[in-house]
Amino acid sequence: MASTCTYQFDTTIYKGAVTFPTQLFINGEFVDPVNKGTIDLINPATCKAIARVSLGDHEDIEIAAQAARAAFKEHWGLKVSGEARSKLLHKLADLVDANTDQIAALEALNVGKTFHAAKAMDLPITGSLLRYYAGWADKLQGKSIQTTPDKIGFTRHEPIGVVGAIVPWNFPLSTLIMKLAPALACGNTIVAKPSEFTPLSALYLCTLIREAGFPPGVVNIVPGYGDTAGQAVGESMIIDKVAFTGSTLTGRKIMEAAARSNLKKISLELGGKSPSIIFNDADVDQAVKWAINGIFMNQGELCVAGSRIYVQEGIYDDFLQKFTESAQCLSVGDPFSPDTFQGPQISERQFKRVMDYIKSGQAEGATLRLGGERYGTEGYFIQPTIFTDCTPNMKIVQEEIFGPVAAIMKFSAEEGALIFHVPVGNSFYGVKEVIEQANNTTYGLACSVYTKDIDRAMRVASNIEAGTAWVNFSNWPDLGLPVGGFKQSGMGRDLGEDALENYTNVKAVHINIGIKI
Ligand code: NAD
Repeated sequence: MASTCTYQFDTTIYKGAVTFPTQLFINGEFVDPVNKGTIDLINPATCKAIARVSLGDHEDIEIAAQAARAAFKEHWGLKVSGEARSKLLHKLADLVDANTDQIAALEALNVGKTFHAAKAMDLPITGSLLRYYAGWADKLQGKSIQTTPDKIGFTRHEPIGVVGAIVPWNFPLSTLIMKLAPALACGNTIVAKPSEFTPLSALYLCTLIREAGFPPGVVNIVPGYGDTAGQAVGESMIIDKVAFTGSTLTGRKIMEAAARSNLKKISLELGGKSPSIIFNDADVDQAVKWAINGIFMNQGELCVAGSRIYVQEGIYDDFLQKFTESAQCLSVGDPFSPDTFQGPQISERQFKRVMDYIKSGQAEGATLRLGGERYGTEGYFIQPTIFTDCTPNMKIVQEEIFGPVAAIMKFSAEEGALIFHVPVGNSFYGVKEVIEQANNTTYGLACSVYTKDIDRAMRVASNIEAGTAWVNFSNWPDLGLPVGGFKQSGMGRDLGEDALENYTNVKAVHINIGIKI
């Protein structure tokens, strides 16, 4: 079994060689899986094989978890100062920044996202995440809480222990680092399972983790299938916490596995069906650009994608025309071309899934205004697709498509469309069509509202059931602000100070300074 792989990239935007290990990374070493499992990865732009890499199984997760437990006790956890952890995270950030081109090329090759998007967005976010949480590593503070005169009480925020991180394929490295950076900053060790489809950037990261000087066992990376290696993370009796990003369906399985095993803590970042609400007074040109970004960015493979677009009737025709023209101009094709906006979907399975949703939209009576077909003859490309005349219960309005498919709905005058909590006597009344429709899904991940009226923006943002509300823009994460879901979009928060709660236990220490019995 080959243990390394070398790519020679010779594209217009990146030329260079990238070498990376293809084995599991456990206890600071690259090792073969116990059962010698492998997977052949494909380039979704060509459907051709690009690498054969190792895949771990239950046994490998258990070995990695044992290594992580030993490292937690011996070299990490409460044994190492926050400053020391911070330095290592900063070193890793420097190494990621120094290898941006190489990692962006691997992401483009393996995921199908464009090289320039990976380089301009995924990689800078990855480096910044490491630095952001490096900054927190020596600032984990509890409170001194005065209770009675003869007692002193204070709280400590202690690491939980071994964290299992399970991540999807749409932002493979940055999502992994979103778990790894706060987990390590708080003093935990980690067993990470990247998606079976997209392990290359994580494998490349292992070489940087070694170079940065993390003690063996602090970070372990085991690519594997979800129903074997992923399930093993959920069921492990050694792993104390699972930080998961992925579908709501898998989130449920992880919850069940945690309940069946050691009641490990879990945080879940799940799916979404986010509404964009555009009012008559919005800057239409800007709203069009942000709404295009909202749904078509990253091939539509985005948990916060603004896939339901509600446009007020006064600007509906203008918006629809401009939105359609813009979508028509999006260049679909080679992820390594500097002009490409949209690459292929990640896999044949995902391609078929999106095409089935397009068929269901047509079958249920929505009007296909743009796209709807495969793009080109090779690779998993789909044309940017727009549906109008959508009704609330259609599958394309209710379910997460995770592809370049927008559903556009018209709403009427403000008076007929919104709850504004007008007090009438002791009760509140108002009109509520758009807000009700926007909230009428099982998800609650994000929303965008476009208006020049700040009062309305605030009212709508507070009435939508979602963990993130963007006003006059979309899909713009801020490392200092938390992301996460209401309803079935998840529990716990990534990013910001709030994410630290996922990775610490709070201990209350009581000191007797006068109580006698
Ligand atoms: P998925 O749930 O199929 O897989 C996610 C990860 O879970 C993969 O690593 C997979 O191997 C693993 N997995 C699968 N079955 C498992 C099991 N039984 N036990 C443990 N692990 C298991 O999701 P996907 O198709 O890879 O990604 C797309 C989904 O991820 C979408 O629903 C999207 O909305 C969601 N997502 C959410 C966020 C967020 O921040 N909320 C971000 C990105 C993606």
